[in-house]
Amino acid sequence: MTVINALSIDLEEWYHSELVEGRRSSISQAAEATKPILDLLDRYQTKASFFVVGEVAEQNPDLIRSIFQKGHEIGCHTFSHKLVWNLNESLFRAELERFHSVMEMILGKTKIKGFRAPCFSIDNRNLWALKVLRDTGYQYDTSIFPLRINPLYGIRGAPTRPYRISLEDVRKEDAQSPLLEFPLCPLRIGRLKIPISGGFYLRALPRLFLHRGLTRINRSQPFLVYFHPWEGYEKTPRFKLPLFNRVVSYYGISSALGKFEYLLTHFRFARVDQVLGLK
Ligand SMILES: [Zn+2]
Repeated sequence: MTVINALSIDLEEWYHSELVEGRRSSISQAAEATKPILDLLDRYQTKASFFVVGEVAEQNPDLIRSIFQKGHEIGCHTFSHKLVWNLNESLFRAELERFHSVMEMILGKTKIKGFRAPCFSIDNRNLWALKVLRDTGYQYDTSIFPLRINPLYGIRGAPTRPYRISLEDVRKEDAQSPLLEFPLCPLRIGRLKIPISGGFYLRALPRLFLHRGLTRINRSQPFLVYFHPWEGYEKTPRFKLPLFNRVVSYYGISSALGKFEYLLTHFRFARVDQVLGLK
């Protein structure tokens, strides 16, 4: 049986990435950088989940309408892409409220089911965030990166397949929890866990390795792909960043869309809510 995997796009501007170190800019590229992704999804008749930054939606209402009308899922990636670690409960609620009011202006009353924190910034230090999501009516979260490999984020010991997430400890399952979690699903080789299905890892790894790794994950479960429009856009502004940030931000941009298409031709995908079986 062919496994159906979850495909997600974090719809943000190039300057929302933490690694460009807060360089806000008036250069908006979200719409033009998202277009080739939408074209590929049309060509391969695939639906995806777009986790949208509210301020990007505010500036690009037609883009959001077009994504929605094509049958893709609209999820929330906060209003202004602030890391949840840097917020408190009331600021986080305010971010969500602003996001929802913009979305209501653009799409009318629409149920938003899924949330992704910028930079996977939910863990046991800010469990209130999950409670706010529950109170706001979210059905799932997809902010858990279940391994510690990046200096910015990651939680060792969290499940690596979809689970009902405990609101008391993100590493635990709780059958009574109202929130589902779709964590990043790493490739396991022996005791090693390697992230392969998104962002820099997806750009950096050779196609053959990706194909074998993802096929291996699919022997037991679906995987989750995450991708950003700026990652596949040649005109993404390049800065002289410190070496780590530069490599992680810019490596493989010119071949990223080709790799994205490669995945679409070799694996089956659907929206995150559909893979989770949500209505
Ligand atoms: Zn983001």
